[in-house]
Amino acid sequence: MMSYFLPPVQMSPIAPQGISAPQAISVDTPRNRVRSAPLLLSAFLLLMCGCQSPLHRVHLDHPSMGTRFQITVFHSDRDHAQAWVRTAWNRVDQIDQACSDWKESSELRQLCRSAPHLKPVVVSTDLLQVMKKALEIARASEGAFDPTVGGLVRLWRRCHRAGRLPRDHEVEKARKGMGIDGIIIDEAASTIQLLREGVAIDLGGIAKGHAVQEVFQLLEQQGIRHLIIDGGGDLVLGDPPPGRRGWRIAIGTSNPQAPSNGTPLKLLIPGRAAVATSGDASRFTEIEGRRYSHIVDPSSGLGIEGPHQVTVISTDGAIADALATAISVLEPQAASDLLQRFPGSAALLVDPRDGSHQVLGEMPLAPNSDGSVVEKGASALYYEKCPPGSVGQ
Ligand code: ADP
Ligand code: MG
Repeated sequence: MMSYFLPPVQMSPIAPQGISAPQAISVDTPRNRVRSAPLLLSAFLLLMCGCQSPLHRVHLDHPSMGTRFQITVFHSDRDHAQAWVRTAWNRVDQIDQACSDWKESSELRQLCRSAPHLKPVVVSTDLLQVMKKALEIARASEGAFDPTVGGLVRLWRRCHRAGRLPRDHEVEKARKGMGIDGIIIDEAASTIQLLREGVAIDLGGIAKGHAVQEVFQLLEQQGIRHLIIDGGGDLVLGDPPPGRRGWRIAIGTSNPQAPSNGTPLKLLIPGRAAVATSGDASRFTEIEGRRYSHIVDPSSGLGIEGPHQVTVISTDGAIADALATAISVLEPQAASDLLQRFPGSAALLVDPRDGSHQVLGEMPLAPNSDGSVVEKGASALYYEKCPPGSVGQ
């Protein structure tokens, strides 16, 4: 077995609060939309530290927000790490309860139901923060990402089930209440005011990213530095395991018919980054011979045509998540312009039909031996096979 050495991690003396076993809570939709993202994480072995305390690999998962959350940490104190990962699940469920557009009882659904508001409404910090970032991306993307798209998303889901395109009058009706100018946020007072009746806010394109970012911060504050959080394709990466140059992420190309299927693209990411993938691999519909995604183009009211797959690397989970959704809607030039406004962000546009790809912005990637940053044709276990110090070579 390979050996790695790590200076002792500075542990926090604070005990985890409110620890409970991960609850087998039901998935937040009636249709069990738990699905696998087109993103495969490299697997790691227990890292042993020859003569000092061993570094344990702790891996736990938890269903929430309509997907499967997974956390992998490397830590010398297995019990400490497990206890805090379980605490992290409570955080994820708390964020779901604040931001879900599926749960009738969520804070977001209640807020929308009570609109229009004559006065600002005090909201939770989670809802406030997610809404704030959603509006930031909505403005920067000139509406390609639009948190008020909920009416169109619901219409599109109904049409998806019925296997037909929406009619013009249905699209018009679904637009009722749309427009971010109908939302006023006061951060200092922690309030949101929705000015329009019938507004349907959908944070499905950003809330998971916020959850992985929050969980990352919570665990890092407890001295857990070598960790990777995966919220069904929304990742936050901490420092890589000791002795490694980065995290090897394999992004599956999603079309089962594609010749490239089964040969994921590999990225070696140095760490301390958020990585989000949006794609239609498991959520598309075919109508009249055309393939449409679950991501809606707010200007047409229809799902965008696919297949499509976008991976964004950024400095914050929520921003990466929302940028991946926005870039899915935008043409590459507009996507490039959008990325410029978020320093430290870059995107990988993949054509799932043949695995060809285009990089927008500057990806913080460690190059492979041939100088390329993206490599084709590895198995998801590639990382494990690399000798120490030569990851990615
Ligand atoms: P996934 O849910 O597969 O991670 P995304 O992060 O791209 O994918 O989010 C897609 C979700 O975002 C949709 O299910 C819907 O709830 C919401 N959504 C769809 N279109 C838009 C849009 N143009 N702007 C903002 N949110 C959107
Ligand atoms: Mg997204």
